[in-house]
Amino acid sequence: MPTENIIEITYLLATALFILSLKWLSTPATARRGVFAGEIGMLLAVAGTLLYHGIVEYKWIVIALVLGTIIGIPLGEVAMTAVPQRTALSHAFGALCVTLVGTAEFYLRAPNVPPFMMAVLSMEVILGSLTFTGSLMAAGKLQEILPQRPITYKGQNFVNLGLLGVAIAVAGVLVAHPEKMQLFPAIVGIPLVFGVMMIIPIGGADMPTVISLLNSYAGLSAAAMGFVLQSKLLIIAGALDGASGFILSVNMSKAMNRSFTNVLFGAFGQEQAGAAAGAKETRSVRSASPEEAAGILAAANKVVVVPGYGMAVAQAQHKVRELYDALTKRGIDVKFGIHPVAGRMPGHMNVLLAEADIPYDKLLDMDEINGEFPQTDVALVIGANDVTNPAARSDPSSPIYGMPILDVDKARTVMVIKRSMGAGFAGIENPLYYLDKTLMLFGDAKNFVGAIVRELAGGHE
Ligand code: NDP
Repeated sequence: MPTENIIEITYLLATALFILSLKWLSTPATARRGVFAGEIGMLLAVAGTLLYHGIVEYKWIVIALVLGTIIGIPLGEVAMTAVPQRTALSHAFGALCVTLVGTAEFYLRAPNVPPFMMAVLSMEVILGSLTFTGSLMAAGKLQEILPQRPITYKGQNFVNLGLLGVAIAVAGVLVAHPEKMQLFPAIVGIPLVFGVMMIIPIGGADMPTVISLLNSYAGLSAAAMGFVLQSKLLIIAGALDGASGFILSVNMSKAMNRSFTNVLFGAFGQEQAGAAAGAKETRSVRSASPEEAAGILAAANKVVVVPGYGMAVAQAQHKVRELYDALTKRGIDVKFGIHPVAGRMPGHMNVLLAEADIPYDKLLDMDEINGEFPQTDVALVIGANDVTNPAARSDPSSPIYGMPILDVDKARTVMVIKRSMGAGFAGIENPLYYLDKTLMLFGDAKNFVGAIVRELAGGHE
């Protein structure tokens, strides 16, 4: 079979695997298969590309593969809580690659670049460059190397959009006059600066949503590169990436009850800090020991566990599994209520609970579980805060007002495991803790859940 046909078949298989991968990734039960399909698809795509007859020298490709492997392996081993910044770095690498390929293609073809080609090439390098610096900034903010606080000044949006406008105008001139090669650096350089300026006014808190949006830009720039290189595989993979990143950002914004423009131009982190500093709570709360908590759980018929960021920090998921086993063994109905933005990245809780082998059918989405809280004896909140805050329903002055929450306050008893009265991600008080039906279980999630499990094993019926 001619090499061209082999390449086409590998690309076709890779494309099919990318589509299946996204489909399988949409539910925890098939997510592992989805990751595997994506990996095989990428391997096929790389292998097919290496067969390309236009390659005259493999030396640089081998060097790049070795370098990529050296960087990629440690990146794959970061802690779960560092995955958002790791993802941002991957986008930065992808976007840099797209920009470099676009630049090389321009200088190989110029000055004879047909208008359509010049238009997609411009889109490729503009999106690639701004995604490169934007993603680096986002990774820096998440890793707390850069200040979290949004930095704003008067007329900022005007300056930023103006910069982008200039880059697009220069691209327009190049489409009409590709021979004006001296203009090309501007459509790389200006978006590089724009990428930095775009992230400066956004608080560290909003970075996960921004990363998902940058993911979408990286996908679109890869699709544009597909038109430049006339690669259907790249066009399809880029479009899948662009669309899924966009949908994810929209879903995340919805789950936080924020509009896109609010995320991108709202300087959210600053408002939160203000709100947190303003309100000092003086009411007292009721607390309980592991022994008391175990007694209450053992007496329940129905328990809903609500995990949050604190469970991830404490790596308590395996202890939570032990608690699930201990309670179900006593005939207690135990379910998990999963908020779409619990933790710090989409699917954070599902991944952790799946790692601890908690059955998928026990993990219920917010909309499914909310109707069950009034019949629930105990809502056990483990390291979650904002996603349970009733102020989101009742206090129009709250920064999270309107955000859909898990209605744990409708359960008969609420028990909250956290280390202190400290605030969560949004930096605000949680009135849930001051309800008569709420018991605070102060301690590290892993230790406290472990202590409850020990108490239950000690024979509390
Ligand atoms: P929160 O950040 O609201 O609260 C987490 C709580 O965990 C804290 O109040 C903290 O209290 C507690 N905690 C921390 N460490 C431990 C520990 N070792 N043991 C026990 N408790 C601990 O988390 P939620 O999951 O409720 O909410 C997620 C927030 O993140 C939402 O505001 C959401 O909008 C935001 N977000 C989520 C994204 C996502 O994709 N999932 C993306 C971007 C933002 P204490 O210090 O007292 O222990």
